[in-house]
Amino acid sequence: MKVTVLGYWGGFPFNNEGTSSYLIESDGFSLLLDAGSSTLIQLEKVMDPLELDAVILTHYHHDHVADLGVLQYLRQLKPKEPVAELPIYGHQEDQKHFEELTMAGISLGVPYNPEKTLTVGPFSINFIKTIHPVPCYAMRIEENTTGKVFVFTADTGYFAELDSFCEKADLLITDTYFLEGMENHHAHLTSRETGELAKKAQVKKLVLSHLRQDIDLELLKEQTEKYHESSIETLLASTQLQIIV
Ligand SMILES: [Zn+2]
Ligand SMILES: [Zn+2]
Repeated sequence: MKVTVLGYWGGFPFNNEGTSSYLIESDGFSLLLDAGSSTLIQLEKVMDPLELDAVILTHYHHDHVADLGVLQYLRQLKPKEPVAELPIYGHQEDQKHFEELTMAGISLGVPYNPEKTLTVGPFSINFIKTIHPVPCYAMRIEENTTGKVFVFTADTGYFAELDSFCEKADLLITDTYFLEGMENHHAHLTSRETGELAKKAQVKKLVLSHLRQDIDLELLKEQTEKYHESSIETLLASTQLQIIV
């Protein structure tokens, strides 16, 4: 599968770059994972947004759904012929936001049951609830044809079950918002927690994302690498970063 970072800042866009959004492609199928601000602008650089097959959301914080409404408008206004309803998968623990996923004839909100494996096109997706102020789910996305695994922590503070959830992932993208010293936060991971997680889970590749605008990002990466003490390739997320998993 191919994973493309469309936005990576935490909370708000910065320096002309957007917030959480990732495009996952396999076998001609395109799945958008979160739809933060600038998603459409970046998505248009790699594909026609009308050709998206599905969207899946970790939670309903604005920095993860900011472009959802304009994606619906694009599908309503741009096509010469009506297009198929776009399935948008979300959890149902926030009914008001879940209902906004449906726009008649344009998009259809589809609930995922976090207790079960969800099949979306060529992917099998498992979930774990994260430590965050609102209900939020990390996702373990397996490409069915190859068995390759991409884990996205979504937004989360550290909790022990994350270690096994991320086990042997070919790619792990994390919410590494804080430098070392803010461990056990109620909403986000630190560099140290990320490094230790990557080491315990023995992931193959690590991308630090949901980045904070006012910290030294090279230091964030150095601290992370110090705590996994290994050859795990570690990158800072950047717009249009493409990773073949
Ligand atoms: Zn966020
Ligand atoms: Zn959040």
